[in-house]
Amino acid sequence: MNKNLVIISLIVVLTLTGCQSSQLTANQKAPEARLDVNTTVNSLQLPDEIVIPETLPATINDPILLEGWIRLYNRTQTCELWDGSTLTGQQLAQYVIDLAVVITWNTDPAYGESSWVDRGGTDNVYINPGLKEENEMQMTRLVSTLAHEIFHHATPFGQEADTLYEEYWAHYVGSCVSGRGQAGFNYYNPLSPDNLTLWFKANDRSDYLDEFEMYPANVVALSSK
Ligand SMILES: [Zn+2]
Repeated sequence: MNKNLVIISLIVVLTLTGCQSSQLTANQKAPEARLDVNTTVNSLQLPDEIVIPETLPATINDPILLEGWIRLYNRTQTCELWDGSTLTGQQLAQYVIDLAVVITWNTDPAYGESSWVDRGGTDNVYINPGLKEENEMQMTRLVSTLAHEIFHHATPFGQEADTLYEEYWAHYVGSCVSGRGQAGFNYYNPLSPDNLTLWFKANDRSDYLDEFEMYPANVVALSSK
């Protein structure tokens, strides 16, 4: 199944149906096979304002990651994307259930203290083990990271190879969904190659510049002439 199509149709459906979709989720019965995940949820100490959806992902077994997913599900403010469509944390969380996305801690030393998606391989999402550390920002950072990586998982520009343009938007989605003010986005037009490069430099991410191509094949950049 084309994941890009799935997330786009998910966005369209959720935009059209508004809050009905969350009621739909709440009315679904959790299968009995999810007993483990329910036991894990019961062990979490969540603030009262956090709603625990009745349907939980069977593909996240770690209690910290599951708490991050529940908090992601509770983020319902909309973030506007490049084409004017909108995305919420709840839609990204629902996507994890719909596509049974496996999310675990990263244990691959090649990736060190970072998060990544094995696109075209296992398709699993691996989260930076540094986020196991309890501190004031832990859950905000985890929600931001989950949103960022789930966005990548959906191959939003229809290609497996990552690009600077996709990274820009993944950082935007993570920041917008979590409310974490991690980087400025207001003064940059990512369709300008000069602006896009400047954004990575201004936000201490110059290392990305050598790693990825600038634009996906289906994105037309502004001419730099
Ligand atoms: Zn990324």
